[in-house]
Amino acid sequence: MRQYLGLIAGCVLVAMGTAFLLSPATRVYGVMVIVSGIVGVWYGIVTLRQSRQDKYDLSKLFEGDPMPEGGEETLPDKSGYCSVCGAFIASPYKPCPKCGAAL
Ligand SMILES: [Zn+2]
Repeated sequence: MRQYLGLIAGCVLVAMGTAFLLSPATRVYGVMVIVSGIVGVWYGIVTLRQSRQDKYDLSKLFEGDPMPEGGEETLPDKSGYCSVCGAFIASPYKPCPKCGAAL
């Protein structure tokens, strides 16, 4: 909703400036208000576009660390919790230190 604030404010300013334009005495102010309103609308559109790009920009999908791919090069990590008693096992090549069950 905050992104639309600039757009709404800009539209209000343009409407106000148009009203000022109707009277010759305030015509100069009308032009100024319309210009600032257009700037507000433009700023609102830019902020809207940026917030949408941040959400849906697919080019950022593959940035950052690539996912580690499991393959022949890496041994499967079997360290974890014992399936029998649930005790933590640091080494996958030793039996469970608590109940002695082999993995
Ligand atoms: Zn166990």
